Amino acid sequence: CGIVGYTGQRPAVEVVVEGLGRLEYRGYDSAGIALVGADGLAVEKRAGKLANLRSALVSRPVPPVGATTGIGHTRWATHGAPTDRNAHPHTDCDGRIAVIHNGIIENFAALRTELEGAGHRIVSETDTEVVAHLLEEFAAGGLMEAMRRVCLRLEGAFTLLAVSADEPDVVVGARRNSPLVVGRGDGENFLGSDVAAFIAYTREAVELGQDQVVELRPSKITVVDFQGLPAVTRDYHVGWDA
Ligand code: GLU
Repeated sequence: CGIVGYTGQRPAVEVVVEGLGRLEYRGYDSAGIALVGADGLAVEKRAGKLANLRSALVSRPVPPVGATTGIGHTRWATHGAPTDRNAHPHTDCDGRIAVIHNGIIENFAALRTELEGAGHRIVSETDTEVVAHLLEEFAAGGLMEAMRRVCLRLEGAFTLLAVSADEPDVVVGARRNSPLVVGRGDGENFLGSDVAAFIAYTREAVELGQDQVVELRPSKITVVDFQGLPAVTRDYHVGWDA
């Protein structure tokens, strides 16, 4: 339902939770966050209101404490009940890749069967979790290339964000028939399902086209299409009435 991504210099937990708060108006049943830093990747997620996630983060601060890269999600369940386990982010078998998703992966059941046959253990009832395991299968070429290859396997509408412990200053996103906007900062960059996700920090936005993959680093934004070719994007300024 709501999606936030950040990489830069600030504590990612603060930026991501602030963004999730601004997306609350859309309605949701669960919320979660993944942080990535030099000492690895950590996930915290809770069914119910963002307040539940906030208090979980206070009572058990997720390592890596100094993380300056993270993703956050508010879920509107379509596949699987609104439980802690089904909340996003979802991770691969090793817990080194985390994924959040808006929309529906129509062919998730076939992908799940294929992945389970290859030895992956899928622990949620969502259509989303297969994406984390597919990214693991394709991880060798880096997260952006893995995401591009995964998207070619997916049917349906989706916005996806992923982070990996192997690339702690990178957030990768992709979209097909579901919104995703980049926020351009100074030594920091943002992703959101709408501009409200980052409006507190920047009003310089980049609109992605359909079937595109974006790699966000603190000082670099790279966009390709699903074939891997450089993609056309549009920069714009978000007005004060946004
Ligand atoms: N289909 C996914 C799920 O049920 C994502 C739902 C959403 O867009 O929040 O977990």
